[in-house]
Amino acid sequence: MRVKGKKILVTGGASGIGLAAVERCLQEGADVVMSDLASSEGVSRAKALDAKYQGRCLFMPCNVASTVEVNALIDGMVAELGRVDGVFNNAGIGGICPAEDYPDEDFTHILDVNLTGVFRVARAALKPMYAQGSGCIVNCASILGVFGQSGTAAYTAAKGGVVNMTRTLALEGASKGVRVNSIGPGYIDTPLLAGLDEQLMQGLISLHPIGRLGRPEEVANAFLFLVSDEASFITGANLLVDGGFTAG
Ligand code: NAD
Repeated sequence: MRVKGKKILVTGGASGIGLAAVERCLQEGADVVMSDLASSEGVSRAKALDAKYQGRCLFMPCNVASTVEVNALIDGMVAELGRVDGVFNNAGIGGICPAEDYPDEDFTHILDVNLTGVFRVARAALKPMYAQGSGCIVNCASILGVFGQSGTAAYTAAKGGVVNMTRTLALEGASKGVRVNSIGPGYIDTPLLAGLDEQLMQGLISLHPIGRLGRPEEVANAFLFLVSDEASFITGANLLVDGGFTAG
């Protein structure tokens, strides 16, 4: 039971990597808030996990692009569970467009969800964490936070911003008992990649020396490690979970 009794929030928790993280935390003894955009799937997935594990699993809807909703999410978590020990800042969206054609509204929307959204959740969670004198935030970046890729100007700007903002948040939190790290997944087999044609998929697989896409649980395991007390001397790090993508 690596996170027994901890109260952990996972944003974007109803699908893919987030859903796997919710389940791994429940398996290891945490009470978990699964947060996502409002949806009946989210509610029913949280209910099913709540029934399956001993810890509580609550669904709390929140759009991370809204400061009002994010602040209400953290207040709601404190009201229900009493504290916030861990946060997986995982909600995110993709987007592909050549730079010369990128519309302002699409570019700023990706930044609003993938970068400012991460900041909003961290800012709100730091308050109870500082009051407790402990806590851990893990921000979901990407290999595209440290590498470029054609067509992803907004996504790479956001994820690169997450990697470096994480370092600053880590510095601010270090003397107050709060650790802040990021995770950089390679390409992971989740609904985010749905709709890519077979040729593109094979091209993505070939970028990973391990020879396959990652699985959501493999990223969830990295989150579990970072949020647990096993990682008590790790802050400001960017842990790449990428099958060797960035090694070459
Ligand atoms: P996913 O689409 O399966 O899950 C993302 C979740 O975020 C969804 O449940 C979605 O509803 C939620 N979400 C989207 N916008 C939101 C908003 N405004 N507010 C709250 N929730 C919102 O995708 P995934 O692959 O599991 O992605 C999770 C994270 O991992 C993202 O930050 C993504 O950028 C990152 N990532 C994914 C990959 C990959 O290859 N799948 C690679 C690197 C990084």
